[in-house]
Amino acid sequence: MKELIQVTKSSMPSFEEFTNEIQDLWESGWLTNMGAKHKQLEMALERYLQVDNVNLFTNGHLALENAIASLNLSGEVITTPFTFVSTTHAIVRNRLTPVFCDINPDDYTIDTTKIESLITDKTSAIMPVHVYGNICDVDEIERIAKKHNLRVIYDAAHAFGVTKDDKGIGSFGDISMFSFHATKVFNTIEGGALTFNDDSLHSILNEQKNFGITGPEDIIYVGGNAKMNEFQAAMGLCNLNSIDDDIQRRKELVDRYNQHFNDIEGIKIVDSQQGVESNYAYYPVVFDGFKYTRDEVFENLKSENIHVRKYFFPLTNDIECYEGRFDVNETPVAKYISDRVLTLPLYPDLKLSDVDRICKVILN
Ligand SMILES: *Cc1c(COP(=O)(O)O)cnc(C)c1O
Repeated sequence: MKELIQVTKSSMPSFEEFTNEIQDLWESGWLTNMGAKHKQLEMALERYLQVDNVNLFTNGHLALENAIASLNLSGEVITTPFTFVSTTHAIVRNRLTPVFCDINPDDYTIDTTKIESLITDKTSAIMPVHVYGNICDVDEIERIAKKHNLRVIYDAAHAFGVTKDDKGIGSFGDISMFSFHATKVFNTIEGGALTFNDDSLHSILNEQKNFGITGPEDIIYVGGNAKMNEFQAAMGLCNLNSIDDDIQRRKELVDRYNQHFNDIEGIKIVDSQQGVESNYAYYPVVFDGFKYTRDEVFENLKSENIHVRKYFFPLTNDIECYEGRFDVNETPVAKYISDRVLTLPLYPDLKLSDVDRICKVILN
């Protein structure tokens, strides 16, 4: 069997770095409930992400559910099906109705020319998704939201550290959600955060994520529990030390992939976006008129012990738990891309020679 290449591998500090970071927890005995490391990480992330406010959560999905709850949305939310199920589930679990907008075929984010025709008197928000490290057309989304008095929550799970015209991507919209899951560019093992400009959201989110407790004997919301603990925060503080190196390394690997795939008939790679510093979170390749189909390439790679992902496939408007509720044909571009896309292995520990091996198998 050939040497295994995984599709992703978590960034981790050295064992010593982590144990140094958690040592004081044995002195304080304070393990969760917004402790010292939680505060330290929130402040460090406000600086790194260039945002006014960061509020940490135990994972990205609960952060997203709480973002929706904090804005008191109702009725319909316009979103895209070209995402991880979390985005759609977060809307549905808040008893709202997702309305699916198609994506554009260049960067796979929401097609802003199709948003306005989906707005009804029930629409309360737009929930666009930054995809693979590419960002949505945030300026056009802001224009539409203002015009129709809608809130905007970005699923920025893929966009940690991305900037547009030197502005942190988390500073756009009402709220952005970042995921710090083990597989993401920056991880706290599991974890997530909301970023926002309106300072008053802080206390609401702090209460929502802690059972609705507002004082020793006061519980005024039906809140849940979604707090990040001190070990997660410690992992984040360590991983933040290497994040710039990690992203730089990802860029080198992406450049190497691009060298192989530039000008190959039937293979579509994503162009970089003007004014955007990407984080190179994923390397998507679309097979459209290539000598092999996406599924054939997937199998060829698997037989060489190279693991890749059909991501995002299936679309969230085409999954079993929503059967009969949505029509996948209403988002034809998303369907087209979802049927043809693979994301290739990409993580800081990947070797350039691994990239060469992967490309050779795909192209041979
Ligand atoms: C990872 C991810 C989430 C969920 O984040 P978790 O931290 O795993 O809960 C949501 N949306 C997208 C697009 C993601 O990739």
